Amino acid sequence: MAVSSGRPDHDRHDAGNDGLVEDDEGGESLFDCQACGACCSYSEEWPRFTTESDEALDLIPLQFVAADQRGMRCEDSRCSALTGRVGVSTSCGVYDVRPDVCRECSPGDYACKTARAAFGIK
Ligand code: SF4
Ligand code: SF4
Repeated sequence: MAVSSGRPDHDRHDAGNDGLVEDDEGGESLFDCQACGACCSYSEEWPRFTTESDEALDLIPLQFVAADQRGMRCEDSRCSALTGRVGVSTSCGVYDVRPDVCRECSPGDYACKTARAAFGIK
């Protein structure tokens, strides 16, 4: 199976190509996933499998899957598929086959801001 070498040029989540998303106050803020990675490092409970089909889960390389097979394998709170340094430059090593919860995470939403705040990323 082919594994992505990382995220595409912009975000792995749903921000626009320029990374600008509307924040809670109705303004626009820059949420650059490639310079962040906080939500991939916040809790081992976050990158859990939810609505994926068995076929989709089979595409995720086993070395990145938790022993209980309920989600991504984490080291402490950090997903094992995340490379790079949080808050500086990060990449998802399984971008093309990442779990549904990772696809649903939206830059600028409550979870995003919670994770970023935990790492002191504004
Ligand atoms: S915390 Fe927000 S900006 Fe950072 S990687 Fe996750 S969705 Fe992107
Ligand atoms: S699979 Fe990719 S997007 Fe999902 S938590 Fe791990 S590094 Fe982040």
